[in-house]
This record gives sequence, structure tokens and C-alpha cells, in this order.
Amino acid sequence: MKYVSEFRDPALAQSLATAIAREVDPARSYAFMEFCGGHTHAIFRYGVQDLVPSNVRFVHGPGCPVCVLPMRRLDDALELAERHGVILATYGDMMRVPGSGRRSMLTARGAGADIRMVYSPLDALALARDNPGRQVVFMGIGFETTTPATGMAILTARAQSLTNFSVFCNHVLTPPAMEHVLAAPGIALDGFLGPSHVSTVIGAGAYRPLVAQYGRPMVIAGFEPLDVLQSVLMLVRQVNEGRREVENQYSRVVTEAGNTRAKEVIEEVFALRETFEWRGLGSVPRSARAIRPELADFDAEARFAISEKQSREVKSCECPAILRGVKQPKDCKLFGKACTPETPMGACMVSSEGSCAAYYTYRRAETMAEMEAAE
Ligand code: SF4
Repeated sequence: MKYVSEFRDPALAQSLATAIAREVDPARSYAFMEFCGGHTHAIFRYGVQDLVPSNVRFVHGPGCPVCVLPMRRLDDALELAERHGVILATYGDMMRVPGSGRRSMLTARGAGADIRMVYSPLDALALARDNPGRQVVFMGIGFETTTPATGMAILTARAQSLTNFSVFCNHVLTPPAMEHVLAAPGIALDGFLGPSHVSTVIGAGAYRPLVAQYGRPMVIAGFEPLDVLQSVLMLVRQVNEGRREVENQYSRVVTEAGNTRAKEVIEEVFALRETFEWRGLGSVPRSARAIRPELADFDAEARFAISEKQSREVKSCECPAILRGVKQPKDCKLFGKACTPETPMGACMVSSEGSCAAYYTYRRAETMAEMEAAE
């Protein structure tokens, strides 16, 4: 397939792996965080960790939107469907995420709540048009990649004078989360593999203040195995040469300024929340979007009274520490036993971008052997 198979060429992968091996300093180690869950899966799926020297380590970051959504927000969404009787429209990867009491959207739907799986916010708009007597709430979730589409749905609803469509907004921002990780004690990182899809929207320039302040190299990387390997080589070179820069390996898609129109839509529709709770990171200042007050008619949090609640995570689930990059799935005693993709106890096992799901799919036997050896 053009523009895909070229980036999976085994001979080129081997030559990049050889170049990395030649350039790493055997006297030191390198810890690179791949912020994005899509990179985590690429690394596992293509065995990238096995292609780089053992002193190059990947630290899995919090860039999986489903994984970082705190349980309380999921409980709030369930309340909208169960108590307020709305049609709740949501992306498929939210359906099995466990909420309080092991409830999920799937079990709530089985119990009678009207929860529909959609592929885009436009599907939710169509639901609103087709059901004029019902309120339709779209669960907006994701990083800067999905925020513009949610914004466009709100602008379209306003243009079409739809009075039965609103959004439960959970969109979050990448740079503040990266800053939170960098400022946290106890995590030693030598650089970031920067997100690819997010960067198509916000542009490479969005990371320059962060890199200047914290002095960690960043390479914006594509999702194919050659992209990841080339980005690792670029990071190794930066570290070895003492450079601390933003470099753009994914230049076939990402520009310095990003997508101007998408950023305009974000600014037109959304304001910044003063703070937002992230699973694993806790409260992160100015890290999430809220719908602007002038568009409150399309804001589910303004339209419906959502109750205060105390949601409790599964006690032994290590998702929060895994999302901060300080633990791995093998450190969770539930991995592969009580917690599997069929019976997920935490969000990291549900989402296709979650670390636990990646380890389970691609490294289950090894991970469980390591767990047994450690017992
Ligand atoms: S294996 Fe399951 S319970 Fe353990 S950290 Fe991962 S998601 Fe949480």
C-alpha cells in the first residue's frame, strides 16, 4: 500500500536499528517517553523494543484519552443516560470502560439506557435530527486531534438551530500533560517521542516553549515502525550531542504551525478549564477544554444538573502509576488474571491505545513469566 508499506520495509528497519546500535553510548542508558498510546502499540506490534539496544528504554506515557479519563466523568456520562433519559452517543472504545461498581456503558445499555455507538460527532448530529423529541448528548473525548470535529458539530448544530443536541466535553490538551510529567518528581526522561496526530493540529511549534523550559529533546514521530526507529535515532543523536530541540520526523504530515482552520474552530467553540482531573496525573492546570458560555445551549454540563459523586477506582489497579510512566503492567497483580481485555478492571486494558492492552496482546506470556519470577 502506497505511503504505508514503504514505512514497514524490513531491510530499512534493520539498517536504522544498526545505526542506532552504532550511535548509542554503551556507558549510559536512554529513557524516551512515547506520549501517545498509538506509538505504544506501534512499538509492541512491530517489535521495535527488540530492534534497539537494551540500554534504550521506552516509557509509556499518558496519551490515551480513554485511559486518562477519570472514573467520575464516566459515571457522569452514565448518569446522563440513566437519570436524564438522553440518547448518549459515544465512540466505541468508551463502551467497555469500567465505571463505579464495574458498571460500563455496555452494561448500562443492557439495563435499558439508550447509549449509541457512533463513529463521529456528525453521526450524533444525525441522531438529533432523527429524534426531535429526544435530547442527544455526544460524549466529546480526546486530545487536540478530535477536538476540532466536536467543535464543528457544535457550530453545525447552531447553524441548523438544533435544540436537542449537546456535548459532554472531556477534551484535553497535550502540552500541559507533558509539562506535568516533566515537573513530577521521580521520573527521569531523556526525551519524548512527540505525538503525530495531535501535532498535525497544533503544529511542531506548540512544543518549543516546553522543550526550552525543561531541556528535554522532542522528536515528533509518525506511527509506522520506520518512523519510530528514525525518531529514536534522532533522539539518540540529540542526547549525544547535548542538543535540546523540537525536531519533526513526521514532516510529511506535520507542519510548524499545524492546521490553522482546526485551531480557529477550537478557539471559537472552546475555552480553557482552570483545572481538570486526569486519571494518573491528578489535577492538571489549564489542561482541558470547556464549551464557551456563549454556546452553553450545546453544553450538556450546563443543560443537565449532574450530581456530585465520589467515584472509586479499583484499588489494586495500577493504571494511575502506569500512566505516569513509573510502573509497568507487570507491576499489577491483576494483569492477565482478573484483568483481561474481556474482563477489564481498568481503562488501560480497555482502550486499543492502553499500555496493558498492548502488553496483553503482544507480550502476555513474557509479562506473566516476569510476574511469576518476581513473586
Ligand atoms: S492490568 Fe488491569 S487492573 Fe492492572 S493496571 Fe492494567 S488495567 Fe489496571
